Amino acid sequence: MKTCPSHKRMYPTEEIAEDALIEAHTRFEYGKQGGPIAVYLCSDCGHFHFTSQGSPNKKLKDHIESGKMKTQKQAYQWELKIKKRF
Ligand SMILES: [Zn+2]
Repeated sequence: MKTCPSHKRMYPTEEIAEDALIEAHTRFEYGKQGGPIAVYLCSDCGHFHFTSQGSPNKKLKDHIESGKMKTQKQAYQWELKIKKRF
């Protein structure tokens, strides 16, 4: 597989990158440090990457504002707890 000079993780489509971005926010508490907020098409490799710059991705923003992110975070936390117990 071709690699990108940026050494960032590559996503073949915008949709996959957006889903991965939401997934990342579900699993990590980025807090004030920001973390990735959007995806962009890279001109070096032709794939999509995360970026912490620019305006927030609409899907991610909708996800947070609708409260879905909170629900998913809670579900994820429960999943972790259950896995630890068994
Ligand atoms: Zn690239």
